[in-house]
Amino acid sequence: MKKNITIAIDGFSSTGKSTIAKELAKKLAYLYVDTGAMYRAVTLYAMQNGFFKDNSFLENLFLKELDKIELEFIFNPDLGFSQMYLNGKNVEREIRGLDVSKLVSKIATISEVRKKLVAQQKEYGKSKGVVMDGRDIGTVVFPNAELKLFMTASPEKRAQRRYKELLDRGDDITYDEILKNVQHRDFIDSNRKDSPLRKADDAIEFDNSNLGLEDQFERIYNLALDKIKEINS
Ligand code: C5P
Repeated sequence: MKKNITIAIDGFSSTGKSTIAKELAKKLAYLYVDTGAMYRAVTLYAMQNGFFKDNSFLENLFLKELDKIELEFIFNPDLGFSQMYLNGKNVEREIRGLDVSKLVSKIATISEVRKKLVAQQKEYGKSKGVVMDGRDIGTVVFPNAELKLFMTASPEKRAQRRYKELLDRGDDITYDEILKNVQHRDFIDSNRKDSPLRKADDAIEFDNSNLGLEDQFERIYNLALDKIKEINS
């Protein structure tokens, strides 16, 4: 039987990780897991249940409720990809907004949250045949992944992409707000104690500041095919 591989894609926010991971999973008929969506859904839960109050975060009370948070990806056949469900409700739209983006990196510093989500992510990938994107996939979740990629692009380029995405869906935001958020998350994600964002030693780096994602996709797809060939030979 043909052996499958694990593909870990890490990098800064809005570097096109998800676009590439989604497309790669489709072409290889692998499972795609967007781990950012999981951290975003946990953040939405904290927001909806009053754990962010008067500019502070009620961490101890929130942690008591961690077991009540159930996350699930459900495939949407009309769209051709999975969407995030929080306790049975489709939250795909809410989790992508700037309100969640402003608070998610704080939630992602909490070790108890990471432990819960990493366990679920490991479970998704236990039979291989998975493309997972995030910040710690090649370093913590799947340190033995056969193919690891690390995506970067300038903060300005990333903010432009994100700004366009949010404008297209009708959000009332400014480019400056988005740039600030991208830089703020880069800082927290790279400097947190637990599982900071960093390139795994054996990850291949791709900078797409000046390159279309389509060009990069072909190179990445070929890398994946080579790896699959290698482990099946
Ligand atoms: O990938 P996305 O930008 O949606 O991720 C949102 C946030 O979730 C990141 O800025 C980061 O704080 C957190 N995250 C993380 N570890 C992951 C995926 C996302 O800490 N594996």
